[in-house]
Order: sequence, then structure tokens, then C-alpha cells
Amino acid sequence: MHPLAKLDHAHVWHPFTQMRDWLKREPVVIVAGKGAVLRDVRGREYLDANASIWTNLHGHGHPKINAAIRRQLGKIAHSSALGLANEPASILAAKLVQATNPKPARRKPRLNKVFFSDNGSTALEVALKLAYEFTRRSRGTSSRSAGRRQIEPRFLSLEGAYHGDTVGAVSLGHIDLFHKSYSGLLFKTDQVMAPYCYRCPFNRAKPERADAREYRKCNWECTGHVETKFRAQKRKGNSYAAFVFEPLIQGAAGMIPQPSGWLRQVTGIARSHGALLIADEVMTGFGRTGFPRSTLNPQPSTSLFACHHEGVQPDFLCLAKGLTGGYLPMAATLTTQRIFDAFLGEYGEFKTFFHGHSYTANQLGAAAALASLDILQGKQSADARRPLEKNLHRELQTLWSLPNVGDIRQVGLMAGIELVRNWRTRQPFALRERAGIRVCEAMAKRGVLTRPVGNVIVLMPPYCTTPQQLHRMLVALHEATEETFPGKPERLKSKSRPDATAGRIVLSSTA
Ligand code: PMP
Repeated sequence: MHPLAKLDHAHVWHPFTQMRDWLKREPVVIVAGKGAVLRDVRGREYLDANASIWTNLHGHGHPKINAAIRRQLGKIAHSSALGLANEPASILAAKLVQATNPKPARRKPRLNKVFFSDNGSTALEVALKLAYEFTRRSRGTSSRSAGRRQIEPRFLSLEGAYHGDTVGAVSLGHIDLFHKSYSGLLFKTDQVMAPYCYRCPFNRAKPERADAREYRKCNWECTGHVETKFRAQKRKGNSYAAFVFEPLIQGAAGMIPQPSGWLRQVTGIARSHGALLIADEVMTGFGRTGFPRSTLNPQPSTSLFACHHEGVQPDFLCLAKGLTGGYLPMAATLTTQRIFDAFLGEYGEFKTFFHGHSYTANQLGAAAALASLDILQGKQSADARRPLEKNLHRELQTLWSLPNVGDIRQVGLMAGIELVRNWRTRQPFALRERAGIRVCEAMAKRGVLTRPVGNVIVLMPPYCTTPQQLHRMLVALHEATEETFPGKPERLKSKSRPDATAGRIVLSSTA
């Protein structure tokens, strides 16, 4: 075993990893990266098919981002944001405000304040705490109850939601496998049905060789559920403070995309009940959702943020992963003047937002983010992303010939391929069968790295991925699936009803 691998085995505890399995084999030790390629300590090369856990945008070792970090390093690496402003963070805040309020300017509300933090989870914590306190201050006490009492703001998020691993973010999450053990630490939030067309109990369509969103037969029962939930909470005299969601596609829930129009409808319902909107664009932000056309807008949307594709502007926009192009840990929570103003007052009123981190608004991160945004907003990037999105769509079609591929879900530059025992029945693999993990291991042998979410294989190529590299990723997935499930699809042992009862998949690993 390589000495570095030995050190890892001796001391490093890896996230979302069964360490007993990890210790059984020599890990891949990455030492370099260029574009979409990662190189390990033994000189082997791999394609980074999940953009280093959904973070990398323009490829590794991008000369512009490297230069920006070096330039900033020549000045200063870090000074505190507690009591001090700094150059790149001020500029970045202004650029983020510009980018997140694109024309048409009539989109309301305007996001014009930026709170920096370190990662996706902390971006959500910030939104959560701000929304909580804003609601307490603006709604005050309940008059319905006998004896006036302070309103406890309540949050609604989606079934299968994942918003990070800090305790507040976990409270918003609804994946039992990750979250149940910590229930004693968490505060109560409510969940509501999210669209999952492939396994929706209301979808009357038989399985087809196409994305289930396209052939579904339903009456939008899922949005009806959202309406019912908001109404029920209102009757309790404490309407939801905020609705928290990933727009267009839920990632760690299983790469589950929303049918066109869903986001617009449910955010409309939430707003009509006075709830703030918290959009988690940790995964979807910075161009990942591509250039979709919608029922609202036949022209391809060019915004870098998923919400805007459906004409939705949230009160909180949480950004991380791709913010720095995948180079440094940094996050931002954008919000409005209205929220900001609720925290203004004389010092002695103690309305201050008492929250922050040592590395808040770190200069190196901000410099990387500025360079990344600049690349992203350039014509060259859009010219590369458009064909990549189309190629991904074309390449994905080849997987339909595999009987163990149940659903292929693409939103822009990301895709989830749901593995099942047999596409005709949609019967899922049990989690302990490690179907997704086994396929990813077989892909790694072929020089392509990604991680599954449960039985769903995630493809999220960096934007610099060439057509040849993308083709290699898909060939590796195709071959790996055939190798993992040789022969005919397994027969069902019992006469189980396949889809409606299968429910949401449970995940074994995440981002
Ligand atoms: N929100 C979403 C939608 C995510 O996908 C993730 C991470 N996968 C997070 C929040 C948490 O981000 P981080 O891992 O940077 O804390």
C-alpha cells in the first residue's frame, strides 16, 4: 500500500463512509487535477464525473482561478469579517447581487444583502436563523391562544429533503437514514409531498423508456398536498414561517426533478400564506440547471440560478459548492432589505444577528469566487455548457437499453440514473445490496469517479468536459451496470405492487 494511503487508513475518518469497508482496500489518493481529469498518487487518471461532489464548475487547475488565488495570496489570505471589511468580499457581494437579480428586473423581492459563511450547511443555518428571528419579530405574539404567547416559527420542507449536516440543516432534512439517530438533538419541522414522478402514488402511467416526468398521468396531486398543508397550519393560528426547498431538482434525495410548473405553483401557495421562501441552490446554483425552456417561457432561460427558470425569486438564496468554482470552501446566503432591516436598532436593543464564523468572507475564497463568476458569465462558458447539456441528453439515451435502468432524470448539466431490479416493475434494490455503490466501484475500475445517492447514479460533469470525456463516462456507466447485473433482470420473488408502494428510495451515501 502506498505510504499516503497508509497514513489515511491510520488517521482519516471519511464523511458518509462505512470505515470498515474503507479499510478493506487501498484508497485512491488524489495528487493532481486538470480539467475534468483527476490523477492519483500511482499515476492513474480518472474522469471526475461528479465534479468532486458537485462543486467543480470549470475544471481543475483552471488558469484564471489559480491566478486569482495566487494574486490574492500575494496581498493577504485572510482577515476577519468581524469588525473589518475586505476587498474581494465586498466586490463579490456586489457581483452576487447583480447575478441573482437578473432582468427582467420586475422579479421581486430584490436580493441585496449577502451573509458569507463556509459551506452549504452553514448557508442554510444562516437562512434558517434569520427567517426564525424575522418571523418572531414581525409576527410577535399569538392572539388566538388563551393568554398571549410568543409565536414559535415553524418551517416546512420537502419529503426526502437534505440541506446539510449541521443541526439546524438536519432539522430541515427528512432522510431517516441520516437524520433519525439525531432526532433528540433536532427541532421539529414539517414535511410535505415532493414530486417524484417515477415513484408517485398518483402517477397512473405504466413504466416507459423515458423520464417519468414526460409520460406521467396525474392531476398535480402533489401541489394539492402543499396547499392542504399550508391551510392546515394556518388553521392552527401559526402559518408557516418559511418554505424551504431545492428548486427544480432535489439532489441527495435521489436526483429527483420537479415537473415544469411545480416550483411556480408551490411557491405561489407558500407566498399566499405569508411564508418566506428559502431556496437551497447549493447544488443547483451557478448554471448547473442549464438553459431550460418552460411552459412560462419558450425561450431558453439564461439565469445561473434554478429559481429564475420558473420566475421565482426567494427571500433567501443559499449558495455554496460552485460559488468558488469548487476551489475553496465558501458559502453565501443572500437576502432582502426587509429581512436586513428587522435586525437594525440601537446597540442596546440587541437586535444584532449574533452569528458568524472565523473564516466568514475569507479573501482567498472570495477571489476564487470572483474569478469563477467571471468565467461563468463569459460567452465561452455558455458556448461550452449548451452543447454539453445536449450531449449529456444524447448520451444518456443509450442507457435505456439496460433492463436495470428504471428512470433517467436530467436537469441541465446533471443527471440521476435510477437502478432497479427490472424496469417493467420498478422494484427497487434493497439498500444493503449496495447496488449504486457496486456500479460506481465498477466505474472507478474503468477510470470514472462518481458516487451514488442510494440506487441512483449521479453524473455531474465539470463544464469543461469534452464530448469524448462525456462519452467515456457514459460507456463506463453502461459497462459497469452490465457487469454488476449480468444476464436477465431478476424476477420478482413476490407479487409486490411495484411503484406506488415502493416509496422514496433510502440513501446510502450522499454529497
Ligand atoms: N444543500 C444541498 C442541496 C446539498 O446538496 C448539500 C450538500 N450535498 C448541502 C446543502 C450541504 O452542503 P455542504 O456539504 O457544503 O455543507
